[in-house]
Amino acid sequence: MTGAAAQSLNRLSFAEVPRPPQGTSQLARPILLDHNENAYGPSKKVLAVLREAPSIGNRYPRQEYDILRGKLAALHTVKEEQILLGCGSSEILRLAATAFLGPGRQLVQASPTYESLGNFARSVGAEVVDVPLTKMYEHDLGAMLARAGKSTGLVYICNPNNPTASLTPRKDIESFLHKLPGSVTVLIDEAYSHFVSPHLGYTSFLDHPFDDPRLVVCRTFSKVYGLAGMRIGYAVNAPDLLRRLSASQLRYGISVISAKAASAAVDDANYVRAAIKSNSDDRQEFMNQVNARMLRALDSHANFAMMNPVRPVDMVVDHLKKNNVLVAPRIPAMEKYFRVSFGTPDEMQEFWRVMDLLPPTGKMAM
Ligand code: PLP
Repeated sequence: MTGAAAQSLNRLSFAEVPRPPQGTSQLARPILLDHNENAYGPSKKVLAVLREAPSIGNRYPRQEYDILRGKLAALHTVKEEQILLGCGSSEILRLAATAFLGPGRQLVQASPTYESLGNFARSVGAEVVDVPLTKMYEHDLGAMLARAGKSTGLVYICNPNNPTASLTPRKDIESFLHKLPGSVTVLIDEAYSHFVSPHLGYTSFLDHPFDDPRLVVCRTFSKVYGLAGMRIGYAVNAPDLLRRLSASQLRYGISVISAKAASAAVDDANYVRAAIKSNSDDRQEFMNQVNARMLRALDSHANFAMMNPVRPVDMVVDHLKKNNVLVAPRIPAMEKYFRVSFGTPDEMQEFWRVMDLLPPTGKMAM
């Protein structure tokens, strides 16, 4: 490791967030940098609610859904009838595939993008139209518009996009919506929106709503709130769309504990602010380490980045795995990159220690 890299790893950020014990020997193994979770876990207030779990687990969630929907409606200044809770935002994606797709129907989406909706679309017999991202890793909305026709049931826009952590400008999405046929529903996935630093081109469709009855915006508690294991997410949309989406939903699909934990998470705005700051520090630190080694990474607006290790990707991913560090595997659309989620400083120190065991980049055959 270079001097600059070592020095920059000495930084410690964010005292409020619970941290694993210092020292790589005590780190939990494997180190999980493969699913874009919040490595620090949920806030102390949420942990307190989770400790109550044994005493409330015998009851169905009678009021907990309504309480959470009320809080989310207040947070986003919408009506409760516009909030649909899901077992993770994954459930919202699945419900959207069931409601708006099927045999003879098309999903139009970017490539690469988060693959779940495409998989759900195929499972209900729909065709998936993959439109490559632009050279700037934005959704190619012109090309997506050209591919959207009579049989298009759903368009998926993941912003920031997974796995590229890139942004598609809001004004471009709005002009796309104006031109899109009226019959097409658009799902905007904002799983990572908290992590976008103030940015000229980006505004969430929830923070600054766009009045369009065809829009479904989905969010998750799995990322900034640190509740991936609780499996809870939600959609905000017009009540009519909500009725269509929820038609095939389980009645009590989200546990009483998850709903309570999510409510406590919404209440703890300080934690959200601190987690955003921590991620921004961790992201900067990651880029410093990449630069110190003369590797490459795409600009990130999320809690992960696409990194080019300047070595054969499969070999690097295997090497990390053998050393108990898990990252996302190579994807065909971006052969030279792999996706790394930002872990705690200790976890990232171990990631870089293992990376530095690789032969120098100049000696590798690509
Ligand atoms: N949407 C995107 C863009 C994601 O990256 C993920 C998970 O990584 C999800 C949705 C699903 O999240 P969850 O089901 O945990 O809410």
